[in-house]
Amino acid sequence: MGAEQSGVRAYAGAMGRVRLGILGGGQLGRMLALAAHELGVQTRCWDQREDAVAGHVGGLHVDDFERPARLDAFLRGVDVVTTEWENVPVALLEEIERRGVPVRPGSLALRVAQDRVLEKNLARSLGIPTPAFVAAGTLGELEGAVREVGLPCVVKTRRFGYDGKGQVVVRKAEEVAACWGALGATAGGLIAEGFVSFARELSIIAARGVDGQTRFYPLVCNEHAGGILRVSTSPVEGVSEGVRARAEEYAGGVLGALEYVGVLAIELFEVGGELVFNEIAPRVHNSGHWTIDASATSQFENHVRAVLGLPLGDAGMVAPGVHAGMVNLIGSMPDARQVLRIAGAKLHDYAKEARAGRKLGHVNVLAGSRGELMERIGQVRGLLR
Ligand code: AMP
Repeated sequence: MGAEQSGVRAYAGAMGRVRLGILGGGQLGRMLALAAHELGVQTRCWDQREDAVAGHVGGLHVDDFERPARLDAFLRGVDVVTTEWENVPVALLEEIERRGVPVRPGSLALRVAQDRVLEKNLARSLGIPTPAFVAAGTLGELEGAVREVGLPCVVKTRRFGYDGKGQVVVRKAEEVAACWGALGATAGGLIAEGFVSFARELSIIAARGVDGQTRFYPLVCNEHAGGILRVSTSPVEGVSEGVRARAEEYAGGVLGALEYVGVLAIELFEVGGELVFNEIAPRVHNSGHWTIDASATSQFENHVRAVLGLPLGDAGMVAPGVHAGMVNLIGSMPDARQVLRIAGAKLHDYAKEARAGRKLGHVNVLAGSRGELMERIGQVRGLLR
């Protein structure tokens, strides 16, 4: 299906330039806008805050997502709508779809990805291994769910969890009531998951176009601390061809089932040389930021290409033998001069106000070998407070 058939006006044709609306205006929206502008595509990010950092690099529309006062004005200024924040209300996406503006990925993908039970049910239906999981809406149900999945387990809110928030590890049956006290009041209920003793956390980033073509980035290895992603590296050492192919098969299955258009990430646990599903991020993902400097086509550019109905770009490394990494800058920024002195390091500063726990930027690191990459990443980490 071409761009015109798919409902988006001709790309930069006689009718004028395509305008991309992005729901959310944080760093992901900002990096999407930067990629879009390189293609001559105007962007308008909708955020609930006037100081949203995507507003520095493109149009910014400030309005409430739950009760928008100026939806018409936003839609008049855009030809296709995408999201950079997975918690955009599904009702808003459905309303935009009803008004005939293409929403990519569509409301189905967001509906599934917003609910940990729905996304795990999807994975299960596609034959993707998941941890044992049971939904719970009352204390009694949570007690039963914990018995069923076994101890230790991880209890999470079904909705609105991110960066390790909204989850508790339960090690003893006596802890279930306190866990319910901490999380039970959350609308949408809870999920109890079996605790996975994983060797590593991996992710796969994939793109699907309007015509169904897909691209897969090399697997990424992710290191978290305090529930927040700290470092990503790619390619991943010691992954068999079979595991790599399985990750692509899983991602391809999810993309197809959701009739997905755009970039999506799947977070996976590596256990005993096999992959276990953790969650879907229906958007460009923090573990793919290294693609800006290390890939032939970044995740941001491929997302823009996909949602505009353009051909997808090569998701391979920019050159054979490149090893890439990304170090998140959280809470405070290191001295830029010191970062820029490190060979292979590229600084990405989101121009945000510093606040504890806030993602303020990242450093991408390129190297010619795994050893050199880890050494350079160590140099960057040495500059962090
Ligand atoms: P999530 O928000 O689901 O990505 O969880 C945040 C982090 O908690 C993950 O990156 C893991 O490090 C850890 N985690 C989540 N679920 C489990 C699980 N079922 N077993 C062990 N660790 C988990």
